[in-house]
Amino acid sequence: MSDTFVCCPFCGLLCDDLTIALNKGQAQIESAGCARAVKLFVVPRQSQALVAGQAVDLAAAYRAAAAILTRSQHPLMGGLACDVTGHRAALALAEKVGGVVDHMNGQAQFRNWLPFQDGGWMTTTLSEVRNRADLIVLAGTDTSRFPRFFERCLTPESQFGELHRQIIALGTNLPLIPGRPTDTDLAIPIQNERLGELFAALRARLAGHRLDAPDIAGVPLAQIDALLVALHAARYGVLVWNAAELDFPNADLAIQAMVNLIKDLNRTTRWSGLPLGGNDGDTSAAQVCTWQAGYPLRTTFEASGPHYEPMLYATDALLESGDVDALVWISAFDPERTPPTANCPTIVLGRPDMIFTRPPDVFIPVAVPGVQHTGFLHRMDAVVALPLSAPAPADLPSVAQALVAIQQKLNHAAA
Ligand code: SF4
Repeated sequence: MSDTFVCCPFCGLLCDDLTIALNKGQAQIESAGCARAVKLFVVPRQSQALVAGQAVDLAAAYRAAAAILTRSQHPLMGGLACDVTGHRAALALAEKVGGVVDHMNGQAQFRNWLPFQDGGWMTTTLSEVRNRADLIVLAGTDTSRFPRFFERCLTPESQFGELHRQIIALGTNLPLIPGRPTDTDLAIPIQNERLGELFAALRARLAGHRLDAPDIAGVPLAQIDALLVALHAARYGVLVWNAAELDFPNADLAIQAMVNLIKDLNRTTRWSGLPLGGNDGDTSAAQVCTWQAGYPLRTTFEASGPHYEPMLYATDALLESGDVDALVWISAFDPERTPPTANCPTIVLGRPDMIFTRPPDVFIPVAVPGVQHTGFLHRMDAVVALPLSAPAPADLPSVAQALVAIQQKLNHAAA
């Protein structure tokens, strides 16, 4: 058994305690990985580049991709599921060709960024949750998209001794998945779509306002008041949500009510938020875009400089309106995250085991970060970038290498 710990890149937790052995060239998890990790660490070592569905060598695929980008006036660099070096290369290419950038999880990301940009928020880290949080409120999430969240963050042991932790669950996905080490102490069923009303009512009651209704969003007023007493009594409370699961119109306003309640509670005790996320490298993509361009994702690169428009430059909106005339789809982690339907030429830099119902114009198989090549990813709490190792190296280009090769072909074409 290997005694070197490996970091798993397949959700935003980035668990860094996996041990892995190599079996016939394939990474095989020996300890600590969840079912998702066990499945996704197995990657073919080779795959075939395609142009118009025909097998070609990589050089021909790079040339075909460069030809599409040469003809394009406004390409979308989408997906962006890769590591930090891949994100840097994608941003550089977008800047060169006058492209626009968005992540495949952009809809969920911007439900968070809109309230964050509007009024700021107070959030915490996974380590703080594990070591200090005595009350966890799960709002509209059962955390199942982050399979080891309970095991890694909500164990009873803390660096500072045993922690008596209460867990309250609010939302549609109740009860929590059986077999978890910790169960909830209180569960309040409520439609996720109505969480905003509940949090607005909590804020109103906290401010001492009267509510002339027997219930809010189906939750009796007496239960809302009892919940408020519990929130007040916490010494270190953490409100946990996952924007991807708050998939309804204007969900950013529900998140805004949550983050504003956290601010209100901090007048008398300590409260923080923990937005779950970071899957498919989305936290890294946001970080890299901000530090490289000075703007968030959903920014287009024009001759006058970067231009940020979160509503206009969403992947779905761009493809539907025809405002982009080529799509570069980057998806190096999950073979099921194939490109959306697009009425424009499509270049895919994808995992070698990606399967298409309709092959893209160009397919370039790329190595999986953290399995087949080394790199870095930002954890969901955005406070650390963890190093990725390559337990099963493969003879495939990384996303960064493929994008640099395409850019070199563009440079030659322009010379
Ligand atoms: S919980 Fe996430 S990071 Fe941890 S092993 Fe599973 S997929 Fe990997």
